[in-house]
Amino acid sequence: MKTAVIGGGIAGLVATYELVKAGYRPVVIEPGAFGGMIRTLSLDGFTLEQGPNVLVERAAMAELLSDLGIKDKVRYPAINPYGQFVWCRGRPMKVPSGLLEFLASPLFSWSTKLALPYRLCKRGLLKPKAEDLSVLAFFTPLLGERSVRDVLDPVLKGIYGGDVEELSARMIFPGLWEAAAQGLSLIGYMRRRPRGARPSIMVLEGGTHVVVSALAERIRGRADKIEARVERIERLTGRGYRLVCSDGSSVDVDACVVTPAGAPLASMLASIDCDLASTVRKQEYASLGVVHLSVPRKEALITDAFGVLFRAGMPNDLLGVMFNSQIFPHVAPPDKHVLTAIVGGAQARTKEFNERELRERLPGQLAELLGVSEVEFLCLTSWRDAVPQLKVGHHHVIATLDRVELANPGLVFAGVDRGGVGVTDRVRIAREAVQRVCKQVSEVKSVA
Ligand SMILES: Cc1cc2nc3c(=O)[nH]c(=O)nc-3n(C[C@H](O)[C@H](O)[C@H](O)COP(=O)(O)OP(=O)(O)OC[C@H]3O[C@@H](n4cnc5c(N)ncnc54)[C@H](O)[C@@H]3O)c2cc1C
Repeated sequence: MKTAVIGGGIAGLVATYELVKAGYRPVVIEPGAFGGMIRTLSLDGFTLEQGPNVLVERAAMAELLSDLGIKDKVRYPAINPYGQFVWCRGRPMKVPSGLLEFLASPLFSWSTKLALPYRLCKRGLLKPKAEDLSVLAFFTPLLGERSVRDVLDPVLKGIYGGDVEELSARMIFPGLWEAAAQGLSLIGYMRRRPRGARPSIMVLEGGTHVVVSALAERIRGRADKIEARVERIERLTGRGYRLVCSDGSSVDVDACVVTPAGAPLASMLASIDCDLASTVRKQEYASLGVVHLSVPRKEALITDAFGVLFRAGMPNDLLGVMFNSQIFPHVAPPDKHVLTAIVGGAQARTKEFNERELRERLPGQLAELLGVSEVEFLCLTSWRDAVPQLKVGHHHVIATLDRVELANPGLVFAGVDRGGVGVTDRVRIAREAVQRVCKQVSEVKSVA
């Protein structure tokens, strides 16, 4: 069976590797270097992540790192990884990570604090009255609108660049959504979760790109690469697909894992399914600017803080700043801290990030907010259409992807519009996609 993988980001590389392990020799079609959004830059003793900064240690990632023989590269945080702060009423406030911190936190009103024991135990409190709700609508009965806006909004802006009024609770909190739909109380949901369910975060010594290099090494000589963009997928009469590439070449395959999403996916699918093409074309994305800055180590950052997240409307569209070397000391030289500021968001979709403006303005803005005297700009990386906005109703997009997969055996979708945007989710989704391909093939064989 001839197999292909479209895209050579983490999802495409994992899919290629899984196909190789299943005994195939896939062709991977990627116009650029392997890694997609995963890019690590080494500069003057700094390890700068231009895309993903931290990895979540769930089963899919732990298994991949073991399999690739790079588990020894894992570095865990030097401080509590849940020491997240949000900027509220003109100062940084810690997001509580336990009951005592919650009771002491100025982020929550006394009425919310007093009502919480009852709300935690009340069955059906979060039971959704619609097939999907915004994060704001879903959590308001538990926390009150003000606390959702003060706490959850900046936290989700730090991940999705989006807004609690628009993001889908069903997509972003799938486990809790399911439990709530069954009428469970929050305590009931927490009891049902396996012990130690809160995963750790980690980085890799040498940067996230280490995992890309290890995957590239594993597939070398066992997969073929075409350096081009797939422009069109055509269904062949009988069985299989023709992938028409931007360099004029084409390749006929029996099965194909498609990892790009959004507009590139829409263009590829025009002749396969117009409905799906128009659905994914409408998908909105947040554009992000990643700005690396350094601060002398002798300056005091907020003690034990992971970083600070902001609500919308900050100057320079500042969404958050992460204190990388406070969490992972090895990523900067001994005399300097490195910070990563994220700017942009869903509202900045068409905005071009202006390096000159950010170089001039951001160091001063951060120095004032964080109370430090010296902030140096290192570099800017711009990501257009970086993070999909999983808005209310997004489950219909996934249902459409499932329907098109069913109607087109051998064609599977593993792009970010499937739901999980984190690298660990991308690994899991790519592996599941290959499992679906292999299952379809064995079903076809057994029918024949
Ligand atoms: C600034 C930023 C910070 C992030 N931080 C984190 C973080 O800290 N932790 C975390 O877990 N996640 C983070 N993420 C998310 C995570 O990095 C991405 O979701 C993940 O890397 C996407 O992997 P992918 O393979 O699905 O897509 P991509 O990496 O986008 O790869 C898709 C590939 O497909 C190729 N392609 C596109 N069109 C075509 C075509 N027509 N034909 C052939 N190939 C094509 C592209 O060239 C690209 O290489 C962050 C993302 C960004 C942008």
